[in-house]
Amino acid sequence: MPPFPSSVVIREVGLRDGLQSIETLLPTPQKIEWIDDAYAAGQREIEVGSFVPARLLPQLADTAELVAHAKALPGLLVSVLVPNLKGAERAIEAQADLLLVPLSASRAHSLANLRKTPDEVVAEVARIRAARDAAGSKTLIEGGIGTAFGCTIQGAVEQSEVLRCMQALLDAGADRVSLADTVGYANPAAVRDVFEKARRIAGDKLWCGHFHDTRGLALANVYAALETGVARFDATLAGIGGCPHAPGASGNAASEDLAFMLADMGIATGIDIERLLALRAKISQWLSNETLHGTLWLAGLPKTFSAQSIHAHSA
Ligand code: ZN
Repeated sequence: MPPFPSSVVIREVGLRDGLQSIETLLPTPQKIEWIDDAYAAGQREIEVGSFVPARLLPQLADTAELVAHAKALPGLLVSVLVPNLKGAERAIEAQADLLLVPLSASRAHSLANLRKTPDEVVAEVARIRAARDAAGSKTLIEGGIGTAFGCTIQGAVEQSEVLRCMQALLDAGADRVSLADTVGYANPAAVRDVFEKARRIAGDKLWCGHFHDTRGLALANVYAALETGVARFDATLAGIGGCPHAPGASGNAASEDLAFMLADMGIATGIDIERLLALRAKISQWLSNETLHGTLWLAGLPKTFSAQSIHAHSA
């Protein structure tokens, strides 16, 4: 078993995965304040939105403006989600640092959500790669494999199909691949198994783990992925997100809880947790009608928590 990574990136996806799943429409100035505060707290990778038609997701209609703002923050890796070539062209034009194309390994989920089979998404990634290269753009392409541990529509998703999709995405020209437990069906044993096999396929291109806390296992799943050497995780502040079919259900792993777990294990994240908690308090005001999650904000940091670990990476 490899040692834990010495440093880990928490990619904040609250502005995309979180906000797209809740009812409250957060105004652009507050999103900009969120980005600025997250940056000031040490976060260096933020998924600021999604280039989808505004009529489908009015919550994310200001994505181009947010990319432009975030790009001005030195050293911040600005990512966006895109569902297709059209969205990718907007991401390339906006000079996003990374565009994430979601692929659902569940055929039923893929047809329901993207109206494409997994292989049609792979073909779209090949077109996106060609467009990116033709534009001379530096935008990285990440293939994010969702429902990798099961699906609310289809039920079981075969591991062999998840790994086949991963190989296909790499063959189509994805620069990075990641695995997502979109609906909170994963457990640590399954995570460890799939990530170990994925590593053999993708090597260093295996980029990120994305775990929802629907059944309380997000941090346990992060731990299992850490054991296989994964060093980047998606998370949302206050664990916002959830599931449109299960009111009150938890969203992603909570960024502040994850930052605490990693720092307390001696793994550098570059994040100042007190500042992140202060931002969480703001967001709880902005989203006062929503159910928020996470536990660190209730109890605070323990007396045994070393301030040194908070700043280990920010020097
Ligand atoms: Zn998600």
